[in-house]
Amino acid sequence: VKIIYNDQIMDKNKVQIDIEDRGYQFGDGVYEVIRIYDGQLFTAEEHLTRFFSSAEKIKIVVPFPKEQLLRLIKQLINENKVNNGSIYMQITRGASPRNHVFPSAETKPVLTAYTKVVERPESALENGVEAIVADDIRWLRCDIKSLNLLPNLLAKQQATEKGCYESILHRDGTVTEGSSSNAYIIKDGKVKTHPATNLILNGITRQVIARLCDENQIPFYEEVFTVDELLAADEVFISSTTSEVMPVIRVDGKLFSDGKPGQITRKLQSLFLEEIKKMEK
Ligand code: PLP
Repeated sequence: VKIIYNDQIMDKNKVQIDIEDRGYQFGDGVYEVIRIYDGQLFTAEEHLTRFFSSAEKIKIVVPFPKEQLLRLIKQLINENKVNNGSIYMQITRGASPRNHVFPSAETKPVLTAYTKVVERPESALENGVEAIVADDIRWLRCDIKSLNLLPNLLAKQQATEKGCYESILHRDGTVTEGSSSNAYIIKDGKVKTHPATNLILNGITRQVIARLCDENQIPFYEEVFTVDELLAADEVFISSTTSEVMPVIRVDGKLFSDGKPGQITRKLQSLFLEEIKKMEK
């Protein structure tokens, strides 16, 4: 199986990562995940733009242009013969004797990427999932897709231990997003999600959903909402690259629309599916 190491495609077992790689020691890097449907990348341009932007926000310079990375990724998907799956990529500030201070300019960033086979979570998409509410204990730059995911992992683990799929996070009662997803409520026909500030990751799926709402006259508001509003919503859903438009049928024991995915959520799911199909043509 092949992977990307900097600007090359290589055998996975030929790649070595230094124990003083700053990604390994400090989480000093950023990452991205792009979905592959039927051998094709979905919203690749948006993901690559965010990858470059996340890197720039922490002052890592990706050592080659977006177009070259896209070419490499497409080549990797072909060589690994991935039909339905995803590609994970990350870039770290490189390997250098351990020191909090950034290394000198000669230290080269380390970029790695690999493919994975993933099927669509069809039964969860059909039946919906359960979530809990948890404290958002993350830093104040959640707009950066940073390798530092400890608070997200703790929140996800908390949900898993309660038999749930996701933790919906809040800061002082204001819902921000999920531990690895964006979060939405629907009340009286209106879709609401946290504005794209420093407190959330502006999901690519979120941006697709915003456009689909706009194109289909579904009222969409980027407005903050509280945990109380979440629990009083008509419908709740989350979104991400791998979860797509995922209905949430229960939060902290509170059931929504009789435990079935709501009508507007269903509509958004079918619009999203059309987007995938369009791309595959
Ligand atoms: N928010 C967080 C914290 C995430 O980790 C993710 C994705 O994994 C998202 C939101 C959704 O982003 P996207 O739709 O680009 O996958």
